[in-house]
Amino acid sequence: MENKDAEGTKFLDTVMYYYDKAARHTGLSKGIIEQIRHCNSVYKTIFPVEIDGEIHAIEGIRVQHSHHKMPTKGGIRYSIQVSEDEVKALATLMTFKCAVVNVPFGGAKGGIKISPRSSSPKTLEKVTRRFATELIKKNLIGPAVDVPAPDYGTGSREMGWIVDTYMTFKYGDTDAQGCVTGKPVGLGGIRGRTEATGLGVYFGIREFLCNEEDVQKLGLTTGIAGKQIIVQGLGNVGYYSAKFCQENGAKIIGIAEREGGIYNENGLDIEAVFSYRTEKGSLLDFAGAKNIENSASMLEMECDILLPAALENQIHEGNADRIKAKIIAEGANGPTTREAEEILLSKGVIIIPDIYLNAGGVTVSYFEWLKNLSNVRFGRMGKRAEEAGYKRLVNAIESSTGNKITPEERIQLTRGADELDIV
Ligand code: GLU
Repeated sequence: MENKDAEGTKFLDTVMYYYDKAARHTGLSKGIIEQIRHCNSVYKTIFPVEIDGEIHAIEGIRVQHSHHKMPTKGGIRYSIQVSEDEVKALATLMTFKCAVVNVPFGGAKGGIKISPRSSSPKTLEKVTRRFATELIKKNLIGPAVDVPAPDYGTGSREMGWIVDTYMTFKYGDTDAQGCVTGKPVGLGGIRGRTEATGLGVYFGIREFLCNEEDVQKLGLTTGIAGKQIIVQGLGNVGYYSAKFCQENGAKIIGIAEREGGIYNENGLDIEAVFSYRTEKGSLLDFAGAKNIENSASMLEMECDILLPAALENQIHEGNADRIKAKIIAEGANGPTTREAEEILLSKGVIIIPDIYLNAGGVTVSYFEWLKNLSNVRFGRMGKRAEEAGYKRLVNAIESSTGNKITPEERIQLTRGADELDIV
């Protein structure tokens, strides 16, 4: 990618194009449509951090797209590619993502222009704490203001540094832990948050594959069993999406990462590949798999489902025509440009959109935030309250769907609740 800022601008153009297209169907007045379109607050700061004896000027951005519901919510990414337009596009998507899953937050997003891979943990800690301090000074973070979370290049470790910095400044504030989500469980996090986005991606794919009519049009059978999947990105979203799809019968035939890709038509063991890459720092030369030097070309290989789970603009006018997948499952935010979408739709490809498919993360972030604000340790409920809560859940599902819950689904429900630490 040559001009990184231009990539961000292209992404923002795509998001605005979809917004305008959808807004025409709302019947809202011109002024309201204009108000919803814009980011309500855009903050950019350059702060100094000493790295190996030298002062470096680091750029940090936080954008709150919509204050219609507070707090605003969305991740913070660490990448050299971060630009203002990219963060604006991502913040805008967060507003609509929260609306799709009915989580009562406005959208936000942040980014720091830094390479997480080539920076030491010490440097990342300094940068994170300093950026958190900048946000605290400007009242741009807080449980009722704006609540960051992990995103590309960040995880629970960074969220831990943020909550610790925030609590140092806000000593005595009982809600302080709710200033950020995706924290380590010991620092007010919630079990299930780490894998939530990937689990949501799997649920979304599974639901699509239930619909016989839609699935047959693609020349596929219903159900995830045996479906051939190529995944781009083995970060948090890619890894867990692939893991849940595989555990439920799909075959992960290809994995693409920045160093190249690996392919095996009989399926790759995602756990083994993940451990291998963690140890070796690369996917290449994984036993039994074929190396694919040019990882971008993996997107164009034959498969049932292509699962981009890395960055935006990966499927574009330059490669859309050569994509052979029948379904694009958008694990990443904005992986398909608008030009590519047109080409893919004209070929009959189904795109399961990001703001629906990857909304599992923010959904569980909502539970984490609620847990922090109510100062409750989920799991401490008495047995009777637990059973009553479970019965209410079953009743609500049965009355909204009109169907009786099967014994298998009952087991699934209790298991789901247990994994989330909410029973
Ligand atoms: N970064 C994630 C996303 O893009 C999660 C946001 C959150 O939990 O607030 O949806």
